[in-house]
Amino acid sequence: MVPVLILNASYEPLHVIDHRRALALIASDKAELIERARDGREVRSPSTRLPVPSVIRLRRYVNVPQRGATWSKAGVLARDKMTCVYCGAALMPKTATIDHVLPQWYCKRHHIPANTWANTVTACRACQSKKGGRLLHESGMKFYDPNYEPRRPRANYLVLTWSANSEWREYIPLP
Ligand SMILES: [Zn+2]
Repeated sequence: MVPVLILNASYEPLHVIDHRRALALIASDKAELIERARDGREVRSPSTRLPVPSVIRLRRYVNVPQRGATWSKAGVLARDKMTCVYCGAALMPKTATIDHVLPQWYCKRHHIPANTWANTVTACRACQSKKGGRLLHESGMKFYDPNYEPRRPRANYLVLTWSANSEWREYIPLP
């Protein structure tokens, strides 16, 4: 059994499941493959060979009841200490804007809520307009602090019951 990290459509980690369940979700088109298992393992059936996944993503957003603080613009600015997450500039309430990591049009199209802790960050106007309506990886921009991760204050954390794979590093903060 190979543990597979399953992400919500919003790329937030949801759970760890076994690869057979992950393959069933892919086969029924409920999820897409994001990362294959690093060792290149495959599952064979008489007609096909499928790569064993390491990370998959649900095609439709699943609403997860969440504990912790309710989202607010002021809360995002406070969480990010009024600092632009892209260039590190210290901002004033007047100059600070909220940037959507997954752009609002993208969220709308895929029925993902845009105003969530994980999807909103503090940005200066220059960085926000530089990123424009693009996805973060398309914009070529990075968080100023490589360890930064937008999250709900006092969020409920994903509890890993398996040892984590290195491929998951991009999606969940690992020690
Ligand atoms: Zn900036």
